[in-house]
Amino acid sequence: MPDKFGYLLPPEMNAAAAQFEKWEKERGHDLECEVCGNIVWEVPRTVNAIIGDAVDGPAVAKFRLSVVLFVCNKCGNTKTFAASYMNVSPYSEEAPETGETSGEGDTDGS
Ligand SMILES: [Zn+2]
Repeated sequence: MPDKFGYLLPPEMNAAAAQFEKWEKERGHDLECEVCGNIVWEVPRTVNAIIGDAVDGPAVAKFRLSVVLFVCNKCGNTKTFAASYMNVSPYSEEAPETGETSGEGDTDGS
């Protein structure tokens, strides 16, 4: 589980890296970057998110997909995996305040 700042702890980074390496080896690759052939990947400590809107008629719901990134340390090619598939909890210890409101009733009346 990422800490309250959304940073992965070393055991989670290692678990994600092990999963990435396992899948690469299973498909017969030796971690080569498809762009430049480099074999060294970095795992940024932050758990990032893909955020979007799910629209169903008039209803709109926000969704957030927590992801772990693997970045080629030579060319920057980036692979994105859903955190839950990389042995990483998609939830932080304590979700940060988003500062978002519904937008309704927020006018100042002027
Ligand atoms: Zn590369």
